Amino acid sequence: MTGATMGKAWMMGAVIAALALAGCQPAKGPAAVDAARLTHADKDPGNWMSQGRTYSEQRYSPLEQINAGNVKSLGLAWNFELSTNRGVETTPIVVDGVMYVTSSWSLVYALNAKTGELLWKYDPQVPREVGHNACCDVVNRGVAVWQGKVYVATLDGRLVALDAKTGTPAWSVVTVDQSKPYTITMAPRIIKGKVMVGNSGSEYGVRGYVSAYDAADGKLLWRFYTVPGDPSKPFENKAMEMAAKTWTGNWWTAGGGGSPWDSMAYDPETNLLYFGTGNGLPWDEKARSPSGGDNLFLASILAVDADTGEYRWHYQATPGDSWDFDSTQTLTLANLTIDGKPRKVIMQASKNGFFYVLDRATGKLISAKNYVPVTWASGIDPNTGKPVIVGDPHYTKGPAIMMPSSFGGHNWHPMAFSPKTGLVYIPAQEVPGVYGTDDKYAYKPGEWNTANDPALNTLPADPKARAAMKNAFKGYLIAWDPVAQKEAWRAEHKGPWNGGALATAGNLVFQGTADGHFNAYDATTGAPLWSAETYTSTLAGPMTYTVDREQYVAVGAGFGSIFYLVAGFAVDHKGTPDNGRILVYKIGGNAVLPKPSLTQIAMPQPPKATASADVVAVGHLKFNAFCLVCHGYNAIGGGVIPDLRYSPLIGDPAGFKDVVLGGARKTNGMVSFAKSLSPQDAEAIRAYVITEANGGYAPPASPAPGGVSK
Ligand code: CA
Repeated sequence: MTGATMGKAWMMGAVIAALALAGCQPAKGPAAVDAARLTHADKDPGNWMSQGRTYSEQRYSPLEQINAGNVKSLGLAWNFELSTNRGVETTPIVVDGVMYVTSSWSLVYALNAKTGELLWKYDPQVPREVGHNACCDVVNRGVAVWQGKVYVATLDGRLVALDAKTGTPAWSVVTVDQSKPYTITMAPRIIKGKVMVGNSGSEYGVRGYVSAYDAADGKLLWRFYTVPGDPSKPFENKAMEMAAKTWTGNWWTAGGGGSPWDSMAYDPETNLLYFGTGNGLPWDEKARSPSGGDNLFLASILAVDADTGEYRWHYQATPGDSWDFDSTQTLTLANLTIDGKPRKVIMQASKNGFFYVLDRATGKLISAKNYVPVTWASGIDPNTGKPVIVGDPHYTKGPAIMMPSSFGGHNWHPMAFSPKTGLVYIPAQEVPGVYGTDDKYAYKPGEWNTANDPALNTLPADPKARAAMKNAFKGYLIAWDPVAQKEAWRAEHKGPWNGGALATAGNLVFQGTADGHFNAYDATTGAPLWSAETYTSTLAGPMTYTVDREQYVAVGAGFGSIFYLVAGFAVDHKGTPDNGRILVYKIGGNAVLPKPSLTQIAMPQPPKATASADVVAVGHLKFNAFCLVCHGYNAIGGGVIPDLRYSPLIGDPAGFKDVVLGGARKTNGMVSFAKSLSPQDAEAIRAYVITEANGGYAPPASPAPGGVSK
């Protein structure tokens, strides 16, 4: 080596060292992410290498090139068509100029993050009949990346590792018993070479768990169940033995539920992996655990050792849940000063309406306060950490109208936290619901199980009452002070079910809306600063990154997910065919988003309603028990899947049976219901849908709609 080349080599070394110090590590091939890089993600603001950007899952970016002063000049840089008309819930991952996103049916795309050019696409070929097991649309929330590989969990329960350069599968493992109605919609997380993944399916009949797989070869390393199994058999661990003491009856025969289906966070200091768990099967505790009990670890936040999966602590937000109050919402780690003392906390805006601040080393409650109106508890007892129940929310004396409902005060739409403002940004909503005991409940294997009276899941027949109900639904972005436990500001939206939040050092908060906009607010005051039309509901978590020192903001947009499946009556803004997109903005961006052409289609006249009132009444209850979760209250389609009231099949008795019982459309996700419904039931359902198509069905009593979601 000559002196000159030595000099150059030294220079190069110095540049690399300086880049490493600045956090801008030189690219070592696609998805070159390792433990050091992920742990110090905060020092690498140009990349977004895991779901919540850092292990703390704050969804906060230190980037400030786009800021409150210049955000008015933000414009579209590029957009990428995802070729889907189903929900888009992905948070893009960006590493060294490459973006990795997912779409419905667990498809993965790698894009040039500067131009949107497609680098590769991977389709795991999920069998479409699995769509029947997915309560809340066939969505996916994103990938994880690690040492040259991209990891996706598929709707049918596989974990697939892809070569980050080509999208070719390196390995694939089945993480669930595929004979059971498990699904996965969450993004995996990677900690020190272990891929962490949970699952969904609590209402359908599964036992939830989190698994850790070796990122190199897919070997199962540990598994932590979230609810106990058959107590006559040995427990997997002491935590399950403890949990079993909080259950009664034969919960395990249908699986118990408790699926950890979305959020995770990790604290490298304590080596704790945190995750939230879902509801039990069925929702109504009286039918699940007849003599009561807390039913651990349903509706809980759990901490386990990330190396071994051993239980460390739990905090159960909703003991004895009967309302589908999953605790799966964003888990955010932060260091706060509370009562003059530095505290390392974990925070959650729970579906149950309370905002929790816990000590993240011990799980002990620091404070909790409702961030939306709450009817079922007057507060959280600071000594026991348990809710103070008011009234009869367990609906023992008749139906209970509840706020929040199963849609939650906040759902999967990710919240963000800005260490700069000290505020948490919560996509919040007010959607009441009614719950009531189904005296005839029996477990329907593989179907939607709530044990709620199906007669209650019906809209008022009076159009004025129906409109009033829709107008009572609210949605807003709340900026919440987690130390003072109070609201700092709010931005009102047209209705519920709006997008996830992103906070940046540019003193901005970004959020999409259900009515087809992507907005930026002043993070301190909530002043609206910028808005772009997206022409479709924009629900996913936004993110930001740099390529060639230029900052971009990205968000997934696309019509779909549970609200539009089930609550079509409350949806104004309907989707357009193939409207799923990744939208990417930059200062001065001047790309134009094609405006969808919304041609009015003449709706066909429905067949005449000729069935007897008794047959229609049977059809109404059967529809609510089996069909409503996808086809909506009162068979009113929300625009995601065909509106049954306008289907030619309702005028074709044989064709209708071919679909409902014969499975003629199973390749579209509409499986056969022959194991649950008789030919007479199918005919009664057809008669009920015809009645709805002819102006609506008025049941003997018209209570408010029950909640159905996640
Ligand atoms: Ca749930």
